[in-house]
Amino acid sequence: MASIPTVTTVIIGAGHAGLAMSRCLAYRAIDHVVLERGEIAHTWRTERWDSLRLLTPSWQSRLPGFRYTGDAPDGYRTIPEVITFIEDYARAISAPVRTHTTVTLVRRDDAGYLVRTDRGDWHCATVVLASGACNVARVPAFANQVPPSITCLTAQQYRNPNQLADGGVIVAGASASGTQIACEIARSGRPVVLAVGEHIRAPRVYRGKDLQWWMDAAGVLDERYDQIDDIGRARRVPSLQLAGTPDRSTLDLNALTDLGVTLVGRFAGLANGKAQFAGSLRNMCALSDLKMGRLLETIDAWARDRGLDGAVEPPRRLPPTRVADDPPIIMDLVRSNIRTIIWCTGYRPDYTWLELPVLDHKGMIRHDGGITPSPGLYLMGAPFMRRRKSTLIDGAGDDARDLSAHLASYIDAQVPRLSALEHAR
Ligand SMILES: Cc1cc2nc3c(=O)[nH]c(=O)nc-3n(C[C@H](O)[C@H](O)[C@H](O)COP(=O)(O)OP(=O)(O)OC[C@H]3O[C@@H](n4cnc5c(N)ncnc54)[C@H](O)[C@@H]3O)c2cc1C
Repeated sequence: MASIPTVTTVIIGAGHAGLAMSRCLAYRAIDHVVLERGEIAHTWRTERWDSLRLLTPSWQSRLPGFRYTGDAPDGYRTIPEVITFIEDYARAISAPVRTHTTVTLVRRDDAGYLVRTDRGDWHCATVVLASGACNVARVPAFANQVPPSITCLTAQQYRNPNQLADGGVIVAGASASGTQIACEIARSGRPVVLAVGEHIRAPRVYRGKDLQWWMDAAGVLDERYDQIDDIGRARRVPSLQLAGTPDRSTLDLNALTDLGVTLVGRFAGLANGKAQFAGSLRNMCALSDLKMGRLLETIDAWARDRGLDGAVEPPRRLPPTRVADDPPIIMDLVRSNIRTIIWCTGYRPDYTWLELPVLDHKGMIRHDGGITPSPGLYLMGAPFMRRRKSTLIDGAGDDARDLSAHLASYIDAQVPRLSALEHAR
């Protein structure tokens, strides 16, 4: 019988996070393999809509040993460009990736972990979960009551407006995905209703510079998980309402209203073919304006302290979000000719293959900055995992450096135990 391959570390997932960890382990001469169910950058190939561009400018894709070197560092890359970037990274670091290898189970064994795949088993001392934070679209439970004449899609399934029937569209969720998709569909000529829950408004360009530049320079993206009062809450905060368009325009609710999009409150329920929208639209928008104001105040204070005030444009604020006096709270979907609903209500990871006691009641990994309660099991790419930037391409490097150092010390401490086990075999 063929023996089961043994390796020090198995990394699950060949997105940028798994590859960044691979580079850091190689740097420390830790032997490892990266198991990937599809191709490198699989989720960028299969789960994004056609017109999506990164909302982070190209300079903001710094990975260990690699960075963007093209001639448009302030531009926002298309999906094919992102795929090429991640493929180039894997090639540049000679990452030991096994593609088309799906992990179906991870559990402890005497030497560490057993990782089962559809192409055989692996034994390893340590595992890095880099399988993504956005595997499954979150959809409210009442979605199964949508009348059959209406097609439901998630942001992962949506590709472009040609895929949709003529007629009205409800987009549920007004963070980065929802606002971008609502904008594109409204431009296709279909009536769009945008259901707005919690969101964070943000100007694309502030005081003459990209907002991401400010957040990076002022250290906002480097804020650490152990410096935040309520990290549980911070990890649930939605993505900034940003889009990466060539004209660098701000895509906020006022821009969508100008395009003819109807704003309603959060999609709260559905009964007898009638959608119920929360009455909190005005409050949600006021709160979002407030949060944007706080972020801009942080940036202004930093610019002032650094003596930048004379060198950049003066501070300014966007006008408040406009909200109709009486936005609808009930909508008969069929009578209103709604033909499609697109759920842009967030994502969650899928760990159904993990046979380890590390999940909380919501199916999320319990961890302390990516270090899980199961010794030798690490996480990458989770929201605000070690820093605010942890889910961004730009955030993986620092996290991988920290966690690979921890992993290396763990292995060093395990050497006597592992040699004894090897001896006993
Ligand atoms: C719509 C959208 C837009 C985004 N825009 C930006 C942006 O502008 N800038 C930015 O920096 N970030 C952006 N992000 C965030 C982030 O960069 C991406 O989510 C990124 O894909 C996460 O990288 P990752 O390596 O953690 O996970 P992924 O890229 O999801 O990689 C995980 C890999 O694991 C594999 N995998 C999963 N399960 C298994 C299994 N059981 N066995 C084997 N392999 C498995 C998957 O196939 C996948 O290739 C965006 C995210 C979304 C959803």
